[in-house]
Amino acid sequence: MSERDIFEDALCRVREIGGDAGVDPEVIAALMHPKAMLTASLPVRMDDGTTRYFVGYRCRYNTVLGPTKGGVRYHPQVTRSEVQALALWMTVKCAVVGLPYGGAKGGVIVQPKELSPLELERLSRAYVRAMADFIGPDVDIPAPDVYTNARIMGWMVDEFEAIHRVRAPAVITGKPIALGGSLGREEATGRGAYLVTMELIRRRGLDPKQLSVAVQGLGNAGYHVARLLQKEGLRIVALSDSRGGIHASEGFDVDSIWKEKQASRQMRAVYCQESVCELVAHRQISNAELLGLDVDILIPAALEGVITPDNVAGIRAPYIVEVANGPILSDAESVLLERGAVVVPDVLANAGGVTASYFEWVQNRSGYAWTLEEVRERLAAMMSRAFGAVWDVAEQEQRSLRSAAYALAFRRIGEAVGAHGTREYFQAGRDAPG
Ligand code: GLU
Repeated sequence: MSERDIFEDALCRVREIGGDAGVDPEVIAALMHPKAMLTASLPVRMDDGTTRYFVGYRCRYNTVLGPTKGGVRYHPQVTRSEVQALALWMTVKCAVVGLPYGGAKGGVIVQPKELSPLELERLSRAYVRAMADFIGPDVDIPAPDVYTNARIMGWMVDEFEAIHRVRAPAVITGKPIALGGSLGREEATGRGAYLVTMELIRRRGLDPKQLSVAVQGLGNAGYHVARLLQKEGLRIVALSDSRGGIHASEGFDVDSIWKEKQASRQMRAVYCQESVCELVAHRQISNAELLGLDVDILIPAALEGVITPDNVAGIRAPYIVEVANGPILSDAESVLLERGAVVVPDVLANAGGVTASYFEWVQNRSGYAWTLEEVRERLAAMMSRAFGAVWDVAEQEQRSLRSAAYALAFRRIGEAVGAHGTREYFQAGRDAPG
């Protein structure tokens, strides 16, 4: 997908849904323009003594509901347009769940697998040096995203605190627990997706034990959603990583495959008891094949733009839960909806991560740490409330779940915009002074 397309696609959806949902054009206009974008070159001393310059971005999209919030991704295909689209989706996501945040996103163009741990640390610190005046606990709060993790967040918060000479754990979420991270944050994106999938199953009156699932992308979020769904009796029949996938209609044991992947960095169809693992019968498949499998629930959990007008005809799953951000392009989604497929949109399905980030931020600011049970309970309550609100709008207004989620978010943002005075208010004030 070209550099312009993904942000354009995201804006198109906002225009279409906003117009259709009768949202004030001023609110839609506000959502057409990212508030601020910082592009920086990040000099990093490599292990061989040379200096390499990486490009880093941070987009603070909208601040109507609060400070901006969103992850930082390290990926060779990061573009300015992608970062803007992701920041826009964060804006919608925070509003859907009812968090007091606007949206943001950051990214660095880099293949992190090619860097040594020390190079990765220097890059992460260089990113924060460049962004030090652009982020802050009340301004903009980064977090992990694709190919970034708790350790990287730890380096980032340390660098920020060194620059500003203050303790500021609330500037970054998704930190290691020892540095002020929250219990339950790491699993939260997958757990949130699991919670909304179970809500969907309940509302549709389906039997979990009869359902098969394919997960594209066994990263942190993909792993936790697959693991938790398997515990509920769903069959996880296909899993993949960036190199390809495995398929077995009787289903896999997700934990065994995850442990093996951590140990060997390879995706292998194994079943493990204690430390003894043996290979189980399976078929090797490509990521493209995985997307077209005849399963009940398809979970794209890797990158954006994987379901396109070119491959949508081959998508057979009646339920799709978007754990990745933006995996379905808008033109492809309309085909799926016409066919009667139900899509649980990213702004709801993967909102568990930022919700637990909000919990972490609240804990950091109050100086009081919650138990894992407290985090899980509050996450379940917020996800179930958000799902219910989106579902109700979808039913009452005959909308798709994405259209309902966006409409809900726009109305919440609109309320905050309106609280400063609407066009009608100012117009009336001009006509009748005093
Ligand atoms: N990167 C995650 C997302 O896309 C989490 C963001 C956060 O925790 O701020 O939702």
